Amino acid sequence: MAGRKAPKTALVTGANRGIGFEIVRQLAEQGITVLAGARSDKKAQAAGAAFAKIGVTAVPVVLDIAAAKRMPAILAEIERRHGPIDVLVNNAAILIDGPGGFGASLFEMTDDTFRRTWETNVLGPATTMRALLPGMIARGFGRIVNMSSAAGQLSDMGSGFPAYRVSKTALNALTRIAAAEAARGDVKVNACSPGWVRTDMGGADAPRTPEKGAETAVWLATLPTGGPTGGFFQDKAPIPW
Ligand code: NAP
Repeated sequence: MAGRKAPKTALVTGANRGIGFEIVRQLAEQGITVLAGARSDKKAQAAGAAFAKIGVTAVPVVLDIAAAKRMPAILAEIERRHGPIDVLVNNAAILIDGPGGFGASLFEMTDDTFRRTWETNVLGPATTMRALLPGMIARGFGRIVNMSSAAGQLSDMGSGFPAYRVSKTALNALTRIAAAEAARGDVKVNACSPGWVRTDMGGADAPRTPEKGAETAVWLATLPTGGPTGGFFQDKAPIPW
């Protein structure tokens, strides 16, 4: 099937703050209609106002990615209203291991921490991909970007925030599976690490700006036809799984 050459519509989850907000800004700058996901109506409205304030045209949509059961119907309604989604950026995530961040041990981890992290960071993206990827495959065009983390690299796995680490390793595995299943037409599924970024999650000591943290995701979201699929990237270069 002849595919579209450039994306028209993108959905970014967790777009009301942090790196997601910046991904929306950079995609909108390229003339893409960007649906900015936020988990509640109030947060979506606040995000819409924040984008308008900086002169960015973005369409706020309500999408709680931890509500897996409701999501397929919500995404179908979003596509009915705004047209087919060509680009999905699975950005939303939580980091609730603690206390102690890197020091948070496996032996302190609660079942509740693990379950909530899994629901948001793994089941959430799995659900958005299952809902939107078939349409991309049928249309012969699509780009999916899974916002992962160096914390999920098995090649450099260490101690600290176990639930978060496991969730990002699982997201990387999902990326490979989805890329393999979507290997028809011009559909690409990739994962990226933004580096350590100054956001609520990254904290004030992080060296990177959200602008820098968003760059590789935006690059993957707008890859040309000959671009990679099934890869893991930071700073627009492959990194080990
Ligand atoms: P952040 O500042 O904590 O922002 C997270 C975003 O995800 C918020 O918009 C939050 O919305 C949203 N979110 C969380 N749970 C949600 C849900 N159930 N439904 C919808 N939205 C939800 O994080 P960030 O630093 O921008 O991180 C963005 C991505 O980069 C994440 O995938 C993170 O794991 C990854 N990452 C970040 C860093 C870093 O140094 N910052 C490093 C590596 C990877 P609310 O406002 O409603 O909570």
